[in-house]
Amino acid sequence: VNRLVLVLGDQLSEGLSALREADMDSDLIVMAEVLDETGYVPHHPKKIALVLSAMRHFAAALEADGWRVAYTRLDDEGASKTIVGELMRRGQEHEVSEVLATRLGEWRLIEALENAPLSVTLLPDDRFICSLQAFDAWAEGRKELRMEYFYREMRRKTGLMMEGEKPAGGKWNFDHDNRKPASEDMLRSAPMQFTPDETTEEVLDLVEARFGDNFGELRPFHFAVTRGQALRALDHFAKHLLAGFGDYQDAMLQGDRFLHHSVLSPYLNIGLLDPVEICTRVEEEWKAGRVPINAAEGFIRQVIGWREYVRGIYFREGPDYTARNALGHDRDLPWMYWGGETRMNCVGHAVAQTREEAYAHHIQRLMVTGNFALLAGVDPGQLHEWYLAVYADAFEWVEAPNTIGMSQFADGGIIASKPYVSSGNYIAKMSDYCGNCAYSVKDKVGEGACPFNLLFWDFMQRHRERFEGNPRMGQMYRTWDRMDEDKRDAVLSGARRILDRLDAGEVV
Ligand code: FAD
Ligand code: SF4
Repeated sequence: VNRLVLVLGDQLSEGLSALREADMDSDLIVMAEVLDETGYVPHHPKKIALVLSAMRHFAAALEADGWRVAYTRLDDEGASKTIVGELMRRGQEHEVSEVLATRLGEWRLIEALENAPLSVTLLPDDRFICSLQAFDAWAEGRKELRMEYFYREMRRKTGLMMEGEKPAGGKWNFDHDNRKPASEDMLRSAPMQFTPDETTEEVLDLVEARFGDNFGELRPFHFAVTRGQALRALDHFAKHLLAGFGDYQDAMLQGDRFLHHSVLSPYLNIGLLDPVEICTRVEEEWKAGRVPINAAEGFIRQVIGWREYVRGIYFREGPDYTARNALGHDRDLPWMYWGGETRMNCVGHAVAQTREEAYAHHIQRLMVTGNFALLAGVDPGQLHEWYLAVYADAFEWVEAPNTIGMSQFADGGIIASKPYVSSGNYIAKMSDYCGNCAYSVKDKVGEGACPFNLLFWDFMQRHRERFEGNPRMGQMYRTWDRMDEDKRDAVLSGARRILDRLDAGEVV
């Protein structure tokens, strides 16, 4: 053996740079299920099962192609607990210290590998459209790093939905059309589900035995675990769900967990699908006249815009990004995030669905669980660990900027130009949660008032100095100042009541 070739659980792509560079005749592929990776936050059992099963399928496919693979199972005797430990073990076995790897998606692992007594060659991860150098070049000298401008560059670079130099349809962004609330629709398809095969069943038993106590339900397990299955999921989405993606992107329904969302992020993030491939498929549907432009553009923007942009930010900002706390929030994450009782129907639903599916769509993450945590002043570090643990698609390079930056404003406004906070009105408008809630969204004060209504103003007052001058928030401060004083007092004391209950561990 000449070199070890490291392939991690989120690098399951045939075209991975380390695999392209490796030599089938003389290199050994190292894949390992290690406790450190499954255990550094209490991952959802479905997420662990997805990654382990996809790894085992991928390893089998590599072997079938003729590669030599040294694969360590979680329960193998003598298995080390860390990636570096496994590399060292294989290195000793084969008397080799040279390692070929593709850049990892987390500072913690990059540092561990860099500090290891091995000679590691890290290749760029070119499964992304924008290299880290290209992102830095784009960011250099800009006062603000707005996603919208970055996105236009990515459109030009990929040629997706372009007509020469101009954006298709004459506009870069059709988001304006994408704000419709949804209604129950019995005919709406659901995302594609797959029946576990023998390999997956074996993994499910292992995960049940080892991680059965983690937050989250393991069964039923329906995720795709191979590239072939993931491609079928993509095809199904493109044919049956994409057309409504734009219109209902921000909608939430208690009876429909997925609406028109693709649920492709778990597959994209572990490497079973490629971003350009899925966007090209989406573009084709639009070109064939089968889906409207706002659906195709909206979807493509999420993938070549947001997804690439947050990765650029994560690596540009450096390892301390997850520790940022610009607003100085320090409240413990309320127990209801781990399934504890709550009277707030919206939060209860988002968490219950998270427990069952290891999935919630963007607006549930941003405007329900994220919004509540931000209004309540929850420690962003604790919230970050929660998002990283509970979603099947959560890997730090994409989760942290979404949580720390977009959702919690803890990076001081690098990603979001203003904090994503709202009163209950937004949730009432975009969902059917409020009709079944113990609180009243119409009530602005009093015992039964929606906690979002109370906490919204408390947040605004707490951070008045910082946000008053923000042109997009000034109007809110003027509204507050016009309210009569008794009402303002009642709002703030109502908010205090909610916060005290959270601190006392009482049900909110
Ligand atoms: P769709 O709605 O179908 O969107 C299509 C694709 O666009 C997604 O598959 C995803 O790859 C991409 N995308 C959409 N929005 C974003 C975004 N803001 N950032 C990056 N990619 C995006 N996404 C993750 O992949 N992993 C995470 O750990 C993660 N954590 C998040 C935490 C918070 C607090 C918030 C607000 C958002 C987070 N997101 C994360 C972004 C987004 O919520 C998910 O990508 C999306 O819900 C995945 O479901 P989907 O595949 O059905 O998406
Ligand atoms: Fe959520 Fe408030 Fe609506 Fe209840 S009333 S579902 S807490 S927004």
